[in-house]
Amino acid sequence: MPKSFTELGLSEELLRIVADQGYEKATPIQQQAIPVVLEGKDVLAGAQTGTGKTAGFTLPLLHRLQREREQQERGQASQGKRAKRKIRALILVPTRELAAQVDESVQTYGKGLGFRSMVIFGGVSIVPQISRLRQGVDIVVATPGRLLDHMSQGTMDLRQVHTLVLDEADRMLDMGFIRDIRKVLAVLPPKRQNLLFSATFSDEIRHLASDLLNRPVEIQVARRNTTAAKVSQIVHPVDKKRKRDLLSYLISANNWRQVLVFTRTKHGANRLAEQLCKDDLNAAAIHGNKSQGARTRALAGFKANKVRVLVATDIAARGLDIEQLPHVVNYELPNVAEDYVHRIGRTGRAGQMGHAISLVCVDEKKLLRDIEKLLGKDLERVVVDSFEPDESIRPEPIQNGRGGRSPRGPKSPRNNRAPRGAKKASPSRRRRRPSTSS
Ligand code: AMP
Repeated sequence: MPKSFTELGLSEELLRIVADQGYEKATPIQQQAIPVVLEGKDVLAGAQTGTGKTAGFTLPLLHRLQREREQQERGQASQGKRAKRKIRALILVPTRELAAQVDESVQTYGKGLGFRSMVIFGGVSIVPQISRLRQGVDIVVATPGRLLDHMSQGTMDLRQVHTLVLDEADRMLDMGFIRDIRKVLAVLPPKRQNLLFSATFSDEIRHLASDLLNRPVEIQVARRNTTAAKVSQIVHPVDKKRKRDLLSYLISANNWRQVLVFTRTKHGANRLAEQLCKDDLNAAAIHGNKSQGARTRALAGFKANKVRVLVATDIAARGLDIEQLPHVVNYELPNVAEDYVHRIGRTGRAGQMGHAISLVCVDEKKLLRDIEKLLGKDLERVVVDSFEPDESIRPEPIQNGRGGRSPRGPKSPRNNRAPRGAKKASPSRRRRRPSTSS
């Protein structure tokens, strides 16, 4: 039975804020997580983006901070002094985008409560971050790299942290942040509440969880590796060198207005966005090598329907809060089958029908098989008229491809799959309607 927020034990102020947001019922992760976090217990939660997990940890966290402040104020009233703000909650996230979004949620859900939060990530000047820290904050949302910079410069005091949240922990491990996370853990007070959120549970996550969490309550809301029932998934077999033409064609012929396209590499994302612009499709790339300003602009343009095609790498797209996206295109299949599930989880949200398309060349057959194995079903193949694959082309190994995850994230080495401008598509391609009504 869906529960309303009033049954979960949150303060009047928080209930009012939730009502202001227009939330009527708590989502499953919120129903399960909020009472447990309010009790002060550790949590191990399996939940993907889009489940409402951010409110699931932020609301009870704010409630606990409120209660703590009330207690302190009672104590201080008798002693007649006011304590300086100290960081009491630390939320670690894998990417800058997610950091910005979680901070936005903290500000939304904490509006008018008088707590200060701030976001800390790299790629921007550290100086304003230092001065804000000096002014005093209650809640910090951070990516691990820049957090360590602050720790090593002594600009951040984490000795009063009593609540730690690891959000999208699986992604943080994928990005190679495990050592950074352990360094942060080493300076936190041992007595604290720990909340670990992860979409998937690898052995590595379980290992981290067993070190970090103290008798956690386990919550699972989205079964692992399941794809949303409301997403139609279609594979278009096509030659590698014709993918870009097919993509332009599908977008134009079907008049798609807001398309998220995934490439495997940052370089590939840049190149494709440039090429689509030449096809008169307003496109922008978003990935870890872009400045924060460029990423924010691209995302804002996309949300405002000014940018029609957003080309992203898996890492950059992770955690982007774009709701009810109608079309997701896998321009290249991901190297890791689970990433396919994350990618197409961007579409078909909130009861809307989503549309996930994969352009698959002969080199990617093995990747496609891996994905189908993970999904437990075959995906429908639709050959688009005049884009039939050339059967005589032999598969080539995918560079940067097989054999597990490649190092990724802001510190990853640049990865050039193909020389810049390697192929030029013929401008006079004959165009016909695709054989699908997609
Ligand atoms: P998240 O999984 O935390 O990224 O949240 C996904 C989206 O769901 C966000 O845009 C939230 O504003 C929205 N949301 C969170 N909780 C609720 C709720 N109880 N009812 C409706 N929308 C919600």
